[in-house]
Amino acid sequence: MEINPQAGRHAEIRAAVRELCRGFDSAYWQKLEAERAYPEAFVAALTRAGWLAALIPEAYGGGGLSLEEASVVLEEINRSGANSGACHAQMYIMGALLRHGSEAQKQRYLPALARGELRLQSFAVTEPSTGTDTASTRTLATREGDRYLISGQKVWTSRLEHTDLMLLLARTTPREQVAKRGQGLSIFLVELPPASQWAEAGLAARPIRNMVGHETFEVFFDRFAVPAENLVGAEGQGLRCILDGMNAERILIAAECVGDGFWFLDRARAYASERRVFDRPIGQNQGVQFPIARAYANLLAADLMRYDAAARFDRAQACGPAANLAKLLAADASWEAANVCLQTHGGFGFAAEFDIERKFRETRLYQVAPVSTNLILAHLAEHVLGLPRSY
Ligand SMILES: Cc1cc2nc3c(=O)[nH]c(=O)nc-3n(C[C@H](O)[C@H](O)[C@H](O)COP(=O)(O)OP(=O)(O)OC[C@H]3O[C@@H](n4cnc5c(N)ncnc54)[C@H](O)[C@@H]3O)c2cc1C
Repeated sequence: MEINPQAGRHAEIRAAVRELCRGFDSAYWQKLEAERAYPEAFVAALTRAGWLAALIPEAYGGGGLSLEEASVVLEEINRSGANSGACHAQMYIMGALLRHGSEAQKQRYLPALARGELRLQSFAVTEPSTGTDTASTRTLATREGDRYLISGQKVWTSRLEHTDLMLLLARTTPREQVAKRGQGLSIFLVELPPASQWAEAGLAARPIRNMVGHETFEVFFDRFAVPAENLVGAEGQGLRCILDGMNAERILIAAECVGDGFWFLDRARAYASERRVFDRPIGQNQGVQFPIARAYANLLAADLMRYDAAARFDRAQACGPAANLAKLLAADASWEAANVCLQTHGGFGFAAEFDIERKFRETRLYQVAPVSTNLILAHLAEHVLGLPRSY
């Protein structure tokens, strides 16, 4: 029984993504978890099928899909029990290149990305000492002739060993020379050398073992050279370029959360119907079924907000509040569904073979990254409700 009332939207995309994901079953994800390995075969299959090039315009060899359609791809990946976190950045980051890249940069990178010959999976924004306060970025990019020399440190740079390109935010004008701390930042599309040449190039990385088995690193730059032609957009406008991409990112994350939410609810209702205790299915008890029904109601409401935000984005209308609302509500709904699913399974929810504890950890991340719930609330409070800026 299909419980998603929106299942008829983009049914062909859903069916194709589900079919691909069927090839990567629970045993595949459990083996990766045990080995703490990256899902290379899964990401390669998505790339071959063209799904990671969904947002690249057809003129550059991509899928030319709308944001709503691309969001359905990520939703279905997560609903299948897989994790978009292994590859979603390629969709998130693409926007910066599409909107702010020069024609020469687009010609150079987009067709190769669309063909799957290049990967754009890393996004180096967060720094250890500044965290959420992106405007205070310290990593420096100093112009020297026809190149910039990057020095500084990033943290939580994900998929570094599984990408060819990295989008990097760095300061091109020292903090003391700008009126506002968000000024003087720039973004670069960095071509990473092979790992064997990192030390010589002034690049070092240390993996961060973490709760979601996410491949992520601390990265150190020491006069790491980037050609000046790899500056994306105007020098000093980097923060604006990053902020520009946030609405799309939030809508895509909301869709991933919705996919997780349906996965948890499918599992919860199936188990609640099958599991018999005290001579009846546990789902016959209102104490078990009401939390499932409530989580379902909240998930459907969040999903409507996600479609509203995606439609606004695709019509090129202002969608900041809608995108933020969609991300907030969907992350809360998937987390509620995760808790309900775990509770419904009792002790078995903790057993790795049920996949619930893995998905539970994975969906929890969306309360923190790529943007934390508090920062979304701060956005709504300030920009929608007119309250004083809190940070
Ligand atoms: C698995 C994982 C993968 C990641 N991948 C990437 C990546 O690929 N690239 C990248 O650049 N980053 C990545 N991140 C980083 C992520 O975006 C940050 O963790 C996130 O933005 C929060 O920053 P922080 O961890 O420094 O928290 P902090 O900024 O230290 O904040 C800590 C807590 O305080 C709250 N807080 C801070 N200031 C305020 C305020 N003014 N008002 C209210 N609450 C506040 C925050 O909401 C948060 O809950 C990843 C993180 C994780 C965990």
